[in-house]
Amino acid sequence: MSNITSLKKTDLKSLTKEQLLTFCKELGLPRFRADQLFQWLYQKGASSFDEMTNLSKDLRSKLDEIATINRISVANQQESKDGTIKFLFKLNDEDKDYKVEAVMIPDFYPDGVPKRLTVCVSSQVGCVFGCSFCATGKMGFFRNLSHGEVVDQVQYINSITEEKYDKKITNIVYMGMGEPLHNYKTVVNSASIISDPLSIELSPKRITVSTVGLTKQIKQLADDQEPFNLAISLHAPSDEKRDKIMPINSSMNLDSLEEAVKYYHRKTERPLTYEYLLFDGFNDTYEDAKNLARIVKWAPSKVNIIMYNNVAGVELQRAREDRLDAFLKALIKHDVRATVRRSRGDDIDAGCGQLAIREGAPKGKTIAKN
Ligand code: SF4
Repeated sequence: MSNITSLKKTDLKSLTKEQLLTFCKELGLPRFRADQLFQWLYQKGASSFDEMTNLSKDLRSKLDEIATINRISVANQQESKDGTIKFLFKLNDEDKDYKVEAVMIPDFYPDGVPKRLTVCVSSQVGCVFGCSFCATGKMGFFRNLSHGEVVDQVQYINSITEEKYDKKITNIVYMGMGEPLHNYKTVVNSASIISDPLSIELSPKRITVSTVGLTKQIKQLADDQEPFNLAISLHAPSDEKRDKIMPINSSMNLDSLEEAVKYYHRKTERPLTYEYLLFDGFNDTYEDAKNLARIVKWAPSKVNIIMYNNVAGVELQRAREDRLDAFLKALIKHDVRATVRRSRGDDIDAGCGQLAIREGAPKGKTIAKN
């Protein structure tokens, strides 16, 4: 018998698919048992071995002795008038009351049938990078999430959309709490589980990972040929302005970002997206649009203009509609492909980190380093 039994219980949700296979092998189980376990964990959302009815009773009680299934739970849920649902999940730390947020954003056809059900997930408790406009950045950093904790967010929300709309979620964006590429392994492992045929089976083309611009990890994604989409949270089109709102820019400025983006595109041949929060009077001028157009030409890319959810205590404010129109016109004039993402869930604290902060999140580490 394996030495697994002599160790403390193994959390099966902390294992990758390959590690789960090794775990089963060590127990003398054939490969299909590992697949069944994987399916119970990531497709059927089992939280106990008793539920795993296609495993023998003996095996279930053996697993109960040596393993656990860590699951996060819902602490709060708010639904907006526009259908956006914000979830606050409680993690399972024994001595800490850590919570993270996720949001489900529906887009509907004119007849009210859902066209897209996008889930925005968190990858860290808090964030170390301290962007001035971000509620999560104000919390500081506490810990990385495991891939199981990320998949749990997706799985739970998927069960809600299936119940509410009779439809699986259609897209995932890693744009909730935390800087995804600062927790690289978790993001890559969770995205791979989510796209597995024995799990939710969402195409990697429908999974987008965002980053404030961690250049080393952008290159790593290219080297690893990770199949999902990459979005860069740019938010300001010059070093001077970016320095003011994103501390990361002091160590990784636009020149280094340009080099990483070009490397990424050379190796993957995939286009990128730039996320651009439009702030009133800060980054919404004709000059800003011109600078943004220059950046977009580094590699085939498009721009997502995001209308900011104002955050209490943050000076930057959402841009006015007439400024948005003028900005879009300037981008079109410079041949930039741009879409506008309207702010959603204004009535439910849907900006990332807002709900957690309202629930009294403590203050963590803030070091703006890669
Ligand atoms: S915007 Fe992203 S990287 Fe910046 S503080 Fe917020 S969570 Fe962190």
